[in-house]
Amino acid sequence: MLLTVLGCSGSIPGPGAAASGYLLEAEGFTLALEFGNGVLSRFQEERPLFSMDALVLSHLHPDHCVDVSSLYVARKYHPEPPSTPLPVYAPAEAHSRFVAAYAPNEAERSSLDFTDVFSFHGLGSTVEIGPFTVDSAVVAHPCEAYGFRISCGGVSLAYTGDSGPCEALDSLAAGVDVLLSEASWTHAPDRQPDLHLSGRQAGELAARAGAGRLLVTHVPPWTSREAVLQEALSAFGGPGELVVQGGRYEVGERT
Ligand SMILES: [Zn+2]
Ligand SMILES: [Zn+2]
Repeated sequence: MLLTVLGCSGSIPGPGAAASGYLLEAEGFTLALEFGNGVLSRFQEERPLFSMDALVLSHLHPDHCVDVSSLYVARKYHPEPPSTPLPVYAPAEAHSRFVAAYAPNEAERSSLDFTDVFSFHGLGSTVEIGPFTVDSAVVAHPCEAYGFRISCGGVSLAYTGDSGPCEALDSLAAGVDVLLSEASWTHAPDRQPDLHLSGRQAGELAARAGAGRLLVTHVPPWTSREAVLQEALSAFGGPGELVVQGGRYEVGERT
């Protein structure tokens, strides 16, 4: 399983840095995970425009999904559009959210049919998407939001989405080969609960889970990436690094 980072800027895009967007590839299947600000542009730098086979969204905050509106335009109006709708696995409000984001007024909204472009599927249970087994569970964030455990060929990756510490993350991450964890700020007692992980909390999650490797992501442009990483590494005690835009990470069995 190959992880490619399209974008990893937390909360907003940074200068030359897209917000959340990842590719997971195995057996010729391309699964896109998150589609935040700037990710459609980055996708086209990495792969042909219509080459993704499915899309998974953890939640519907803009930095994780807003470029779906542009993907709609591409798949609807390109002179040679894809012949089948793109499967999108997302929270229940995804369809209405993207219709509202695309169409500025009620008249246009009511005439809009997304079903020839996207087929929406819910989250919260185990689904097979191409060669991947995708488990999802509700995590601690102010809207319907999911964390994931994605397995293929005997290896597994857990991804936190946006979340504060919670039992669902512990269970998704238990024993994974790679934990891709958000860390949105340095640790402090007055951080808003049930919103994000600190670097320390990301490291503690990896340690409790016994993860093989920790990949830290979703650091906002106003936060020190090095400070977040140092917290995470000292709490984890295992191998870890900050992901970078354009980075490629082989998810293999631990050595
Ligand atoms: Zn976010
Ligand atoms: Zn969020």
